[in-house]
Amino acid sequence: MAQFFNKGGFVFAEVIVDIAHSQVDKVFEYSCPDSLQVGSRVKVPFGGRKIDGFVIGVSRVSSYPADKIKPVAEIFDEPPALIPECFDLMEKISARYRVPKAVALRLFLPSEMRLGKVHVSIRRYAKFSKEIGLNSSAKKQAEALRFIMKEGEADYARFAEEFGRGAVDALCKKGAIEIEERKIARSPFSGLPENYEKKTLTKAQSDALDNIENSDKRIHLVHGVTGSGKTEIYLNVIAREIERGRTAIFLVPEISLTPQMLSQLRARFGGSAAILHSGLSAGERFDEWWRLRSGEAKIAIGARSAVFAPLENIGAIIIDEEHDSSYSSESAPRYETVEIASFRAEYNGAKLILGSATPSVESFAKARDGEYNLITLTERINGKSLPEIIISDMCKEVRSGNNTAFSRALRQELDETLKSGRQAILFLNRRGYSRHVVCRDCGYVAKCENCDVSLTYHSEENCLKCHYCGARYRMLNACPDCGGTHVLYSGTGTQRVVSDLKTLFPDARILRMDNDTVSGKDGHYKILRQFAEKQADILVGTQMIAKGHDFPAVTLVGILDADMSLHFSDYRSGERTFQLITQVSGRSGRADDKGKVVLQTCSPENHILRYAVNYDYKGFFDNEIALRKATCFPPYSLICRIMITCGDNDKAIAVLKEVYFACEELRKNFPDEFIFLNKMHSPVKKIQGKFRYQVLMRLKSKSLLEKIYDIAVNNSANDSLVYVEENPANLS
Ligand code: ADP
Ligand code: ZN
Repeated sequence: MAQFFNKGGFVFAEVIVDIAHSQVDKVFEYSCPDSLQVGSRVKVPFGGRKIDGFVIGVSRVSSYPADKIKPVAEIFDEPPALIPECFDLMEKISARYRVPKAVALRLFLPSEMRLGKVHVSIRRYAKFSKEIGLNSSAKKQAEALRFIMKEGEADYARFAEEFGRGAVDALCKKGAIEIEERKIARSPFSGLPENYEKKTLTKAQSDALDNIENSDKRIHLVHGVTGSGKTEIYLNVIAREIERGRTAIFLVPEISLTPQMLSQLRARFGGSAAILHSGLSAGERFDEWWRLRSGEAKIAIGARSAVFAPLENIGAIIIDEEHDSSYSSESAPRYETVEIASFRAEYNGAKLILGSATPSVESFAKARDGEYNLITLTERINGKSLPEIIISDMCKEVRSGNNTAFSRALRQELDETLKSGRQAILFLNRRGYSRHVVCRDCGYVAKCENCDVSLTYHSEENCLKCHYCGARYRMLNACPDCGGTHVLYSGTGTQRVVSDLKTLFPDARILRMDNDTVSGKDGHYKILRQFAEKQADILVGTQMIAKGHDFPAVTLVGILDADMSLHFSDYRSGERTFQLITQVSGRSGRADDKGKVVLQTCSPENHILRYAVNYDYKGFFDNEIALRKATCFPPYSLICRIMITCGDNDKAIAVLKEVYFACEELRKNFPDEFIFLNKMHSPVKKIQGKFRYQVLMRLKSKSLLEKIYDIAVNNSANDSLVYVEENPANLS
């Protein structure tokens, strides 16, 4: 290929244009001044328009003649927005999840910055620089000069208003004062109380720290019971890396839900900590992001997307509550946070620390097999005991005439808690709206004969379906086990729980937290703060209240419908149930008073509940992993769904056939890799006017993954979207 050298004064920029389309997913060349830095964002002429682009390289040679190359139209950002690591990650992400490079690069920038909607907020200051002689008639100037000599500096706008713009400008011209522009950071959550007292580490904590420091493994799994002081371990790891001149990323499932975490970080690390969170205003997010990019802040705290924080020289990445499903992205690119984090840990030579009281089965299996370094904390801080879990059999309650949402045991415990002035949390499963079929008389659950997962009721066809194989069953009129007729179970909402509570305990102050009552970026935080300040006695809520809170006065937790997630039609339903019960129970009795938990269920003998009640993670894991092996579910297989969505039903069906045909071919060539393959309507047939179909498969390993992505990419078009989901958390 011919090479053309520049004639001096300019060089060639390699630019990726910000268009999410595979046809323009390549590097374009433009000429640019030789001061242009790699990582800058630019505007370039493209197809008669000017569009945004990212400079991924600058070169002195080009493969095109210079007169064929157009110049860059505009240059943003000083310093460049993208750090060098972005280009490495861009390649990995675009290869792994098969997205255009521009889509991968977008992950690294706050969206409002890409769209040019927010800007740095600047304030001007007048500063004293030197004394000068003044004409006696210049009274205003003399006054202003005296003022600024005394104060040293002043806000320019106010200074000019006070002494007159003419006088201030004159002083400026004469060199007596200087104008300085300063960037003002819009700081989120600034009213937060800072609470941090230096703690003496327990033996278990300092052993954990030594272990993390000395292990030669890249990834560490901290498995510690709730209240075992994992947060303190993370903070110490971060502090150590900061001392070494390195940076850190701290990920939590949902940052606005953990104000305690924020105040601890602020108190300990001050301005070194920056918060990246979708709930911030655009301006706040922009400023926090630049504080990290410029090196002023060294610790990024946030939910999933903060894994892309613009930090260089990362020493540690922490993923707290690593089992949480919010760490899987449900829109393109459909990445697993831990995968991105391990790319970054590898690149930076950083430690990756996963923590949980209830690690995901897949993570724990990796720790068991030696891929991760396992650190176990079995005791709560100060030897506090874990709360006792009492099981209430709700089927028995119904049989004996109790039709309320509360068992007698729970009512009695609530009564005692309120009388002693302590607080209670009542937890309702959000998945209460999932329509599985359970017999209210005996606890029987309808399951698929092929897949051994619970069936879901579809009202429009009045039938039961398996979301894993598409099998259909007739709706039951009576329970096949006991003949009872209360078979369709649909959940109780938080609203009804609150109104029942008001009848039972008219004097209790009740707070409700779910998607209906929470709005705005501080919504969660406000409710949680009210509860923490003891402005209420009972907090009723969904999944949102399960995560990581520390309310010392809470001594009772009621789990109103433990079965809901147990029978959800997902191979992980047992795992999710165990996790939820353990997490929610962990909210009880965290301070000096012993806590209690009442767990309401129709399956009191269920083994998952038994393990949870005994806090027996190991027992749960051994049982679960054996089951996964026997039934060929992940980690012993890979569930892949190729989704086809299209506004035109006929077209969607045509694409579905093509995709399915290609998968069939693949199965012919690799018959041993396939456990299951079929095509079907998606359980939810239409969303936002798009028809939804799917090819579902279960594969023995990940070896065909790339070929499956090929099929999706090859069949995707502008009007019909085809994409792959790996082990999707949600099959709707
Ligand atoms: P986890 O994250 O494992 O659930 P936390 O980190 O929230 O546990 O710790 C539980 C409680 O113990 C918190 O109130 C925390 O302030 C306290 N704590 C943690 N470490 C220590 C320590 N070394 N000494 C005293 N208290 C501690
Ligand atoms: Zn099935």
